Amino acid sequence: MEDSWHIGRRDFLRLLGPAIAAFPLGQALLTDDAYALEITDIKSPKRARRASRKSTDFIVLHTTEANGSSSLNSLSKGGKANYLVDTDGKVYRILNPGQVSIGCGRSMWNSKINLDNHALNIEFVGHHNSEPAQGQYASGRELIAQLQGMYGISDDGVMPHSQVAYGRPNKWHRRSHRGRKRCGMLFAKDDVRQKLGLETKPRQDPDVAANRLVFADTYLAEFIYGRGAHLPAEPAIAMPEENGEGDVTAGEVFRAIENGQVAWTYAGDEFADKTTIYMFKNGKIRRGDELKRGGFNFTEIEPGTKIAVGYVYGGHVKRGRSAYSICKRECNLPSTIYRLPGGEFKTGDEIDFNAIPAKTLVMFRE
Ligand SMILES: [Zn+2]
Repeated sequence: MEDSWHIGRRDFLRLLGPAIAAFPLGQALLTDDAYALEITDIKSPKRARRASRKSTDFIVLHTTEANGSSSLNSLSKGGKANYLVDTDGKVYRILNPGQVSIGCGRSMWNSKINLDNHALNIEFVGHHNSEPAQGQYASGRELIAQLQGMYGISDDGVMPHSQVAYGRPNKWHRRSHRGRKRCGMLFAKDDVRQKLGLETKPRQDPDVAANRLVFADTYLAEFIYGRGAHLPAEPAIAMPEENGEGDVTAGEVFRAIENGQVAWTYAGDEFADKTTIYMFKNGKIRRGDELKRGGFNFTEIEPGTKIAVGYVYGGHVKRGRSAYSICKRECNLPSTIYRLPGGEFKTGDEIDFNAIPAKTLVMFRE
C-alpha cells in the first residue's frame, strides 16, 4: 500500500524526537517549505532558577482573555507560560521548553495532579470563546508539532486549560469539580483542533468517570465532550472564575474555616487524608489522618483553623535537615510552600535558599 510509505510531517518529527531535543527549540535545524517557525526570545526573570519539569506528558493551551500582547509582560514576569502565540502568528518564548511554568494552577488529569509539573503551557492571545486568528493557526500548529515531537506527546495529550483545571469544594459546590475555568475551551473543538494539526482528543473525562470529580459546568462539559456527556451529579450553579492563571500562591494554599462550616466544606472527601494539612490557631499543625486516628471531631472545627489540601507535610528545616533533603527536586517549584518561623509564607519560587531559617516548615505537592 503506497500510503504506508508516506510519512507525515508529524510522524517525521516524532521519529526525529531525540535528535531535535538536542537543539534548543527555535534554533533546531528544521526547515519546512510550508512554514518556518520563528521564535522571539523574551527571557522571563524566572528563567534563571525555575526548575525543570519532572516529566512532560501534556501540552496545555490557554487564552489570554485580552486583546493584543499586553499579557506578555505579566506572563513573563511570573513565568506563567512557556510560549505565547500572538494574533499575527508571532511566537514568543518566555521560559525554556523544559522549565516549569505556572499556567494550570489547580489541575488534574487521570488522577495526576498539578499538571504544571507535567505540562508545557502555551498561551494564545485571544478569548476562550472566539476563534483563533489565521496566523495563530499556522504558527500554533508548527509549535505544537515540534513540541509533540520533542517530548513524544500524543494528540490526546494536547488539551485546553479548562479541560484539566478543577476546583476544590466551595460554597457553590460540595465536591471537587471540573468547570473552574473556561480558559482555552475553543481548543477542544474538532475543527479548531484540526486546523492545529490535532486529529484526536480525549473522548471522556477520566477523573469524572472515576468519580474523583464531578462536572459543575454543563455548558463546558458538553462543549468539550458533546451532548450527553457524563452530566453533573450535582446541579450546575454559575460561579465566579478564580482569578489568574497560576492560582496557587503561598497565601492561598491555607484557607481559614469560616463560622458554621466544617472540614468537608474545604477538603471534600479528602478531609481526613494524609495530604490534608490543618493549622490550628495555637500554631499546631496536624495531618488529616493523624487527627482522624486521634478521634478528632471534624464537624466541630474551630473557625479560623486553616486547611491546605493536596500537600505533603515535609516537616521543619533544622541543622542537618535542609529544605533540599526534605523535598528534593520539589524544592524550588512554585507549588512548594515554606512557612517561615515568623509565620510568613513563601513559595519555592520566592524563597532564598541560602537563608532558610531553622524551624521553617516545608510542604510540597507530589
Ligand atoms: Zn489558562
